[in-house]
Amino acid sequence: MNYPNLISSKLPNVGTSIFTVMSKFAADNNAINLSQGFPDFSCSEELIGLVNKYMLKGCNQYAPMAGLMSLREIIAEKTEDIYSAKYDPETEITITAGGTQAIFTAISAVIREGDEVIIFEPAYDCYQPAIELNGGKTIYMQLKAPHYLIDWEEVKKVINYHTKMIIINTPHNPSGSIMTAGDMAKLEKLTKGTEIVIISDEVYEHIIFDGYEHQSVARFPKLAERSFIISSFGKTFHATGWKMGYCVAPKKLMAEFRKVHQFLVFSCNTPIQHALAEFLKNKKNYAGLGIFYQKKRDYFISLIKDSKFTLEPSSGTYFQLLRYNGISKEKDTNFAVRLTKEFGIASIPISAFYHNAVDNKVLRFCFAKKEETLEKAAEILNKI
Ligand code: GLN
Repeated sequence: MNYPNLISSKLPNVGTSIFTVMSKFAADNNAINLSQGFPDFSCSEELIGLVNKYMLKGCNQYAPMAGLMSLREIIAEKTEDIYSAKYDPETEITITAGGTQAIFTAISAVIREGDEVIIFEPAYDCYQPAIELNGGKTIYMQLKAPHYLIDWEEVKKVINYHTKMIIINTPHNPSGSIMTAGDMAKLEKLTKGTEIVIISDEVYEHIIFDGYEHQSVARFPKLAERSFIISSFGKTFHATGWKMGYCVAPKKLMAEFRKVHQFLVFSCNTPIQHALAEFLKNKKNYAGLGIFYQKKRDYFISLIKDSKFTLEPSSGTYFQLLRYNGISKEKDTNFAVRLTKEFGIASIPISAFYHNAVDNKVLRFCFAKKEETLEKAAEILNKI
């Protein structure tokens, strides 16, 4: 059938997300899937039991638009406890359908035609399309391999009258780098006296290693007053498929966020919110997450220490970058495809996190996996 051409794409350069592409490719090729970031072990049975309990209790209708009050209250407590920052659960915390929805909502609430948004590459893939859909212009800054740190002098040079937003991400996906208090001080200085809004993507806030403390913007009042902070229960509780997260922001920003949120999703899963509110009361349920994943990182690294890949240990997130310039000159996308097809192991090529496909011969591997999965993966990697 011949269909009329009704629309021209609003996102002409966007294809299917690399995470979906690689996970499907891994499945089609029966490969070990260390590409898309998700645990291959179960989340807490207690938490599953709580969801079940609240479903059976009849908590199955709409939650309040901004989220269940008991959950917002415990988030406020946790945020104050860890970062010494006070957020009013009534007006400054909203439960979202995962981190990506929160990021889209915050960008939509703020960005207008012609506004400039600074992001740092390699960058998580959901920022740029949301900016573009809202008529904004993405300004790409580069994090330099192998340490992927921000060059604040360069940032200073691109800030101008049109700069409306800066999106930061710590711990950083895909590189595993983390921002320091020094970074935050520089960001504070750069944004002082401006109307720049910050989105701080902190979905890996509890997955940080080697004794470092997560530098949430919430710790810095002058930054917090202009920031949307995004967090994710999927990462913290090994339940990425539940698509639950939250956003905290000062009242004025949050009021605008909620205007968009209510027409994007209205409200989020009710029984899961009840369960999370109860589960979060026990700090042990998230306090040990850094140690838990540090062990996995260390195990994975120790298993591949004699391979031809090279690496800097990840400082946070559940991703480890591996360089393969000692193995092949192939483009990272081609190499990732070949590893999946010929060797049976899937990863994410880092060029996918750049608008212009910068290829540094680096692949991202997710180590949120059972020991046996990591062992099988390492056995393969050691042969390459
Ligand atoms: N955050 C996950 C990752 O980086 C992917 C989430 C998704 O597939 N949208 O792999």
